[in-house]
Amino acid sequence: MDVKPVICHTCGGKSFELRVDRNEGAIQVKCTACGTKKILLDGDEIWEDASPRLRKCRVCKTSRAFNVRVGFVRRESGSVKWVYIGNRCTNCGTLGSYLDWSVDYEPTDEMEQNI
Ligand SMILES: [Zn+2]
Ligand SMILES: [Zn+2]
Repeated sequence: MDVKPVICHTCGGKSFELRVDRNEGAIQVKCTACGTKKILLDGDEIWEDASPRLRKCRVCKTSRAFNVRVGFVRRESGSVKWVYIGNRCTNCGTLGSYLDWSVDYEPTDEMEQNI
C-alpha cells in the first residue's frame, strides 16, 4: 500500500476535523489551524448527496482533531482500486480508520492527487 499524509494546502497544518459519510464513502477535512476545508479524492461528486458526521475520538472522547493519511491499494495497471483513510487522534494517539472504499473506474491519476 502506498500511504500519503494529508497536509493543509493553505498553512501546512497536519491536524484536521473530519466530516465523514461512511455509506457514500466521502470525507471532508477542516484544518484546525486555519479553517481551510477540503473534500478528499473523488468525494466532490457525491458530497451534495452525502450526510456527513463530525467524528470525535472514540477512545478519549474529547478530541476532534486528527492527523490523516490516505492509503492506496493499486491494480496491476497502477491505478487505484481501494482507498483507506487512516486517522490518528492528536490528543491520545489512537489510530483508526473511519472510512475505506473501492474505486471502480480508471484512470485514477486525477482523483489521487486530490488530497
Ligand atoms: Zn491550514
Ligand atoms: Zn483520542
